[in-house]
Amino acid sequence: MSRIVVTGGAGFIGSNLVSRLIEHNHIIAIDNLLTGSIENIMTLLDNPRFTFIEHDITVPIDIAGEVDKIYDLACPASPVDYRRYPLETMQVSSKGVHNMLELAKEKQAKYLFTSTSEVYGDPLEHPQTESYWGNVNPIGERSCYDEGKRFAESLVVNYRKFTGIDAKIVRIFNTYGPMMRGDDGRVVSNFIVQALRGSDLAIYGDGNHTRSFCYATDMVGGIIRMMASEETGPINLGNPVEITISSLADTILEMTGSSSKITYKDLPQDDPTRRSPDISLARVKLGWEPTVDLEEGLLKTIHWFETTLGQKGDG
Ligand code: UDP
Repeated sequence: MSRIVVTGGAGFIGSNLVSRLIEHNHIIAIDNLLTGSIENIMTLLDNPRFTFIEHDITVPIDIAGEVDKIYDLACPASPVDYRRYPLETMQVSSKGVHNMLELAKEKQAKYLFTSTSEVYGDPLEHPQTESYWGNVNPIGERSCYDEGKRFAESLVVNYRKFTGIDAKIVRIFNTYGPMMRGDDGRVVSNFIVQALRGSDLAIYGDGNHTRSFCYATDMVGGIIRMMASEETGPINLGNPVEITISSLADTILEMTGSSSKITYKDLPQDDPTRRSPDISLARVKLGWEPTVDLEEGLLKTIHWFETTLGQKGDG
């Protein structure tokens, strides 16, 4: 049984990853709960194979005993969250990643960094391949996240080169599914919560911009395959099926049977116009591709929100 550290273990993708890994491993989840939620890991707290440490990884941490693998996911990741916490976002992507790389060096652990499609900024190439350098505004509203992750990628690459640790990078594209916060501000969670409550679905811009949405279990499968492989990356992980935000809104309205209306708001600064991953590398190197189509994934996510909103009586 491996001993695995997951930073951001109470976050959206982190908690989905922990739920999968705990079947065969001992998990040490670290999270400062800035944007993660203890509720995501509540059912695991009594599991003898699970240790939760509430800690901010920008501060170095001692972990007793061996660590075989480190999945480094900690970071505010929705645009609303990182615009609210820009300094924390930059610190975790620099000091936090540095501390986890040091931990990997000390423990001789394999290390995986979860980067983002945001390193491509508002891309001028479609779909985005890993060799594309991106189109990022270094001082815009998204720069704390985009440049933070770009700095972190460089840190990981240089640690690998100069310390010899086994460090690797995946670039995660838009992901959705259970454990998303209803108020995280992302488009899928916003639209589902709005549709279930009968309030207006607010499209930012004219609705013609695109994204490609990957279901959480698919994403977790790709991340685990990357860790198990000899690949160093960066490798894109995401669902290559691209849709407009208008068509996402229509699909969610139809699937929820909601009578909510669609309204339009201003597009936030530097909001990428088009985004879709080229996942050729993941297919060839990892033998991975998504298996859950949008409708199936949305159905499960809608059910999950129906249950959790019902329990909480709020979002
Ligand atoms: N968006 C929207 N309505 C919302 C939330 C987001 O129209 O309530 C748009 C947003 O402007 C962006 C896309 O949906 O073009 C995806 O936004 P999200 O925040 O989910 O993630 P991003 O891909 O921008 O990081």
